[in-house]
Amino acid sequence: MASPSTVSNKNMLSGKHGKSLMYIRNFINGSHCPPLSGNYIDNVDPSTGNVYSCIPDSEETDVQQAVESARTAFPAWSVMQKQKRSAILIRISELIRDRTEELALAETVDNGKPLWLSRSVDIPRAVSNFHFYATAALHDWTETHNMEGTALNYTLRNPVGVAGCISPWNLPLYLFSWKVAPALASGCTVVAKPSEVTPMTAYLLSEICMDAGLPPGVLNIVHGYGHKAGMAIVSHPEIAAVSFTGGTRTGEIISRTAGPMFKKLSLELGGKNPTIVFADADFDKAVHTSVRAAFSNQGEICLCGSRIFVEESIYKKFKTAFVKESARLKVGDPLLEESNIGAIVSDSHMIKILSYIDLAKQEGGEILCGGNRVQPKGRCEGGFFIEPTVIENLDAYCRTNQEEIFGPVVSIIPFRSQEEVITFANSTQYGLAASVWTSNLKTAHTVAAALQSGIVWINCWLLRDLRTPFGGMKNSGVGREGGFEALRFFTEEKNVCIRLK
Ligand code: NDP
Repeated sequence: MASPSTVSNKNMLSGKHGKSLMYIRNFINGSHCPPLSGNYIDNVDPSTGNVYSCIPDSEETDVQQAVESARTAFPAWSVMQKQKRSAILIRISELIRDRTEELALAETVDNGKPLWLSRSVDIPRAVSNFHFYATAALHDWTETHNMEGTALNYTLRNPVGVAGCISPWNLPLYLFSWKVAPALASGCTVVAKPSEVTPMTAYLLSEICMDAGLPPGVLNIVHGYGHKAGMAIVSHPEIAAVSFTGGTRTGEIISRTAGPMFKKLSLELGGKNPTIVFADADFDKAVHTSVRAAFSNQGEICLCGSRIFVEESIYKKFKTAFVKESARLKVGDPLLEESNIGAIVSDSHMIKILSYIDLAKQEGGEILCGGNRVQPKGRCEGGFFIEPTVIENLDAYCRTNQEEIFGPVVSIIPFRSQEEVITFANSTQYGLAASVWTSNLKTAHTVAAALQSGIVWINCWLLRDLRTPFGGMKNSGVGREGGFEALRFFTEEKNVCIRLK
């Protein structure tokens, strides 16, 4: 049984940096093990810029071991009584809840997001993901199709086998559990890889799985780089389904590998989401929620509204109020309650975001607020922080308004008519989420129907019901997560037809 441990006292070794660093391990066949190569990758706390732990630089051989362990565990797990499987997953959700404080701190140190956000959103959502799928699996049903007395068809859904789950760094445990929980609930065994940038909570989850009595090999967690460990998962012939969340470019690489192998593939990719504000909207709510949609989690949520289209007649008033509220957001130490915006996840991502701010200026954009790196005094001086940045005067079709920046940077643009704003909103390669603000029911329905977007929020943002289909159109993804869609993704459907006459 794994002992309840804290991030700061487990697996401490003297690292190459001369300090005591925590060495994360892979989780294979129910126990922790070092990478076979013995190589590790530095893990940086983005709020300080310091290396604080090391993670396995896993290779194909580590993935091979994980797949073998998952394959061995599959027969027993896939036929285990649903109630029994469900009880183990519920236990995992309870143990995550019991360790909320520790997990929230780990998430914040790893990712840079404010601790209050990890505590109120990321970790509770991981609890819900396990609880939701543990119980949803008990309520799954199957269809029958009666051919007017000639024959009866029914549909069987069996787990596909070993599933590969690959998740990004922006909502680490939240998105990791969003894949792993439905895979396990549907009876698959799993080889999973969290982002190498934010591995810590997945590591802590492996301890929780041991404590919850998850049988060895049912969940295997391999840490390391995407192009090595990630690719080894995607290309492994024994992995029948791959569920991936990450960038569109990576999704393309994964499709090219998994497609010709005829694997089941679920891709949740990038976004460049519009927020559309009509003149008849509830003004204060629209301003406040649009600011939240723009800058929550440093703008590093695939659902953030980064293109804000405002009807011409209220453009000036909205712009003034939006900039005022944005400029008030406090950027700083994510451990402090008063910080609204924490650190950007890495040095390289910060540089990328700043380069987009430069691009916006070259494209004629005017910075209304922000635009700079922040170096808070004290503990976080070497951290990666950027001011919330609002830009105007940019054409809807310029690169700044077409490419995903994935940071605290938004552009604000006036529109003249419903037709025009729909054209603007649909003009990117992406189609993940949109938020529409209006008090006119007809406008709401018409615009929602016309938007090329997997999710449309009317007069709200990020209001999520786990039963609903989640995913994007166009280059934002293939397939849907959430609800029974996710459970069914991890199964293979079979039609059984019985002749009656
Ligand atoms: P990446 O695409 O860089 O990485 C995602 C995961 O894939 C990581 O674990 C990464 O490992 C791994 N990976 C990278 N290359 C490969 C490869 N060749 N084969 C297999 N795995 C690979 O995305 P980010 O982590 O940078 O996340 C940000 C992106 O995720 C944004 O574009 C965002 O929009 C998108 N996203 C989409 C969501 C959605 O639901 N649609 C939700 C959240 C984020 P490593 O970290 O080692 O590179």
